[in-house]
Amino acid sequence: MSIEIRLPTALRAFADKQEKISVDAKTVGDALEQLFSKHERLRQQLMSPEGKLRSFVNVYVNDDDARDQQGLSTPVKDGDTILIVPAIAGGSAVAEAELTKAELARYHRHLIMPEIGAEGQKKMKNASVLCVGAGGLGSPLALYLAAAGVGRIGIVDFDVVDESNLQRQIIHDTPSIGTSKLVSAKKRLLALNPFISVETHEMRLTSANAVELFKQYDIIADGTDNFATRYLVNDACVLTGKPNAYGSIFRFEGQLSVFGLKDGPCYRCLYPEPPPPGLVPNCAEAGVLGVLPGVIGTMQAIEALKLILGIGRPLSGRLMLYDALEQSWRTLKVKRNPACPACGENPTIKAPIDYEAFCGLKEKPVSIPEITVQDLKAKLDKKEKFILLDVREPHEYEIAKIEGSTLIPLGKLPERFGELDKGAVLIVHCKMGGRSANAVRFLREKGYDATNVAGGINAWSESIDPSVPQY
Ligand SMILES: [Zn+2]
Repeated sequence: MSIEIRLPTALRAFADKQEKISVDAKTVGDALEQLFSKHERLRQQLMSPEGKLRSFVNVYVNDDDARDQQGLSTPVKDGDTILIVPAIAGGSAVAEAELTKAELARYHRHLIMPEIGAEGQKKMKNASVLCVGAGGLGSPLALYLAAAGVGRIGIVDFDVVDESNLQRQIIHDTPSIGTSKLVSAKKRLLALNPFISVETHEMRLTSANAVELFKQYDIIADGTDNFATRYLVNDACVLTGKPNAYGSIFRFEGQLSVFGLKDGPCYRCLYPEPPPPGLVPNCAEAGVLGVLPGVIGTMQAIEALKLILGIGRPLSGRLMLYDALEQSWRTLKVKRNPACPACGENPTIKAPIDYEAFCGLKEKPVSIPEITVQDLKAKLDKKEKFILLDVREPHEYEIAKIEGSTLIPLGKLPERFGELDKGAVLIVHCKMGGRSANAVRFLREKGYDATNVAGGINAWSESIDPSVPQY
């Protein structure tokens, strides 16, 4: 038996979304202490800096108000239920946490600016930002948000720190190579500012979890490096009504905007569809200047702070393009598209979709080695050792063949591939190169050294030996 503490909806965000928590205690104060030891952030919501229960929070033991008894000293026994009932105003029952003395000292340079001041700093303390990705953009973004005093920073990532990350992902360091990016980032952020809380979400952001996660934060900062996640972040932001401080980087160039504000466009208004897979390489394929995410991620942090503070002009309806080589910025106007499937007048996206399919990733074929008919001719002339495998049908073989080839039709390959010497080099052709590509994929899966002939026997006839009939 133990005592059950029940939390109202508004406070569950501070307690890992739990509705009730069991503790062992003798008094109400004792029980709350144990609650705070498990969920430290609840303390500032419920208690004043002097350690008193905040005036707008009522605590009930079973059905009786603890204030009518002995307040925090009210005794409790096994089986009792403690109910926390905050006053509800404006849809939010969560109290604004005040700034402590130490925080007033830390944020001095903010406090002396009339645009921020103690009020603004308090807004930051009570705000939350979710950084999607703890990579190049997420590094400066999370570091500056933490330094500025944003009270709750969430990070979602599932990667480990790789040595090749450190050229730009400055939140991590050399000793953290091989460890979780989330662990590394959290350690660094709390070392920078122990007055904030850092929530880590070790998972791949998916259509199944994005909406629930985004609901727990005020602002989402998109620092992803792939289109599937970028569209998911956009749609989940639109669905939850959360602003998206967006940044992306490519080699020496960066993009920046704020999506999802009232009357403002979303990412889909700007780019209704992703480029075909393979057309735009990612950083791992194309490279990125190490400092570039520092510029763009920092700008995302500025936009997030402006949104929290309600100052300045958010970068909504504008797309900023940065060119590091030219050292130039360009600002383009982006209008909300009334026909946008996410944020338009008749949205068709009512829940997150399958983004891998949307981005064409599911159809992406496995790439296979390929040679031209000229390469094949050269190999034959040099009398290189290989098996030239023809995977067409026997009737096609009758019409036209390349001398010295072995015929195993594609459909027979699964039962006959054992006839092929496992150590041999296989060069595979068909009529046009399509069937043989499938054969190569199959043979490589079976452990063979197989290569496709692009264009097949028709290309051979076209470019090498016109005496071979085309059909
Ligand atoms: Zn839109």
